[in-house]
Amino acid sequence: MYQRTAGFYKMDAAKIGRGWHEMGPIRPPSEGRDASLLLRVTRNCPWNRCEFCATYKNERYSVRTVDEVKADLEVVQGLAEELRSASWRLGFAGAVGEEIVLAVINSNPEIYSRQHNDAELVHARLHSLANVANWLATGAKTVFLQDGNSPQIRTVDLVAVLNYIKEMFPAVERITSYARSKTIARKSFEEILQLRQAGLSRLHIGLESGCNEVLMAVKKGVTAEEHVMAGKKTKEAGITLSEYLMPGLGGKKWSEKHALESARVLSEIDPDFIRLRTLIPRRGTPLYERMLAGEFEPLTEDEMVEEIGLFVENLDCHAYLVSDQMSNLLWEVEGRLPEDKPKILATIRNYLQMPLSARLKVQLERRLSSYLAVYGQLAEKVAAKVELAAESLQKEAPDAPGKVKDALDALKQAFI
Ligand code: SF4
Repeated sequence: MYQRTAGFYKMDAAKIGRGWHEMGPIRPPSEGRDASLLLRVTRNCPWNRCEFCATYKNERYSVRTVDEVKADLEVVQGLAEELRSASWRLGFAGAVGEEIVLAVINSNPEIYSRQHNDAELVHARLHSLANVANWLATGAKTVFLQDGNSPQIRTVDLVAVLNYIKEMFPAVERITSYARSKTIARKSFEEILQLRQAGLSRLHIGLESGCNEVLMAVKKGVTAEEHVMAGKKTKEAGITLSEYLMPGLGGKKWSEKHALESARVLSEIDPDFIRLRTLIPRRGTPLYERMLAGEFEPLTEDEMVEEIGLFVENLDCHAYLVSDQMSNLLWEVEGRLPEDKPKILATIRNYLQMPLSARLKVQLERRLSSYLAVYGQLAEKVAAKVELAAESLQKEAPDAPGKVKDALDALKQAFI
């Protein structure tokens, strides 16, 4: 991998300090694959009790000091300068691509080689270099604040971080973060406005549901009313708002109410984006345990599509609806509301009106292609189940629905 290089470039070690900046585990897909600079402001999630979420389980929440985050930004600035000057020196006119990254790595073994450093440090430096390089390659315009709920820290501290980002990188156009509705609802409007004025331009909020029974059952720690309050405050302050809805979170018991109440709450908030994240109960989570104990009855693929249809039908807002995650079966459920509502509903209706065998085929093909997009090839056990399902489907055997379900369960567990 490190064979092909554009030439030699010795880095100025003083400029890049320790050579890495801290990053958390996740960012929304809309922040692009590494296109945003990832900047860790807090570690993990201060709530960490949602029954369906495994992202930060067993990880302790902590706040990074403003000085720590500023120090990271200085490292990023040093790396960015070094990558750009390597590019100019090696004849790439400032453009930063794979050749430049490889040249920098190969020319600086005392920084990037395991012969000179422990493996963890090398990993952190390479990870950081890749994030900064990808960020530069895509114009260095967006920054994503990690982890689960950055506005949890004192507003004055977050404003200081935002100001420093702008000071260090005046060309940055968008700074975004995950947030909990509870946190935003608790802050005053003036505080949210201060964040906006300091440069916070987009919040990603996990609504999950607008139904209080569902929110309570999954221990979301927020009410539908607080969701509305937080959403409206965010929009009023001029911050772009992305709300995440989790179809299926109410199981069979609350499916209808989950769809109707979520539509009501999101219509009231009128966010800029609604992003669908279909529930796939994840091993090791309390919800998964409840499902095994028979206390939570998950929806089938078809019931899930019906629930989304009911939700969209009752939605009355101007959001852009997106299915940008592989947990969703029908990726084409997407469009600007209200004008694309008929098109979205037609997509859902067309799917539901297909014969059972055709629907099962769609389910198997879609889940398989999502799996392959992540892993490239099927694990042995999963492959066996997929083969059995495909065979049953081809023969139109009566056990085809059961076999397809087994295959889907195996495929879905792998990519969540
Ligand atoms: S608030 Fe978000 S990150 Fe925290 S536990 Fe809930 S879903 Fe997970």
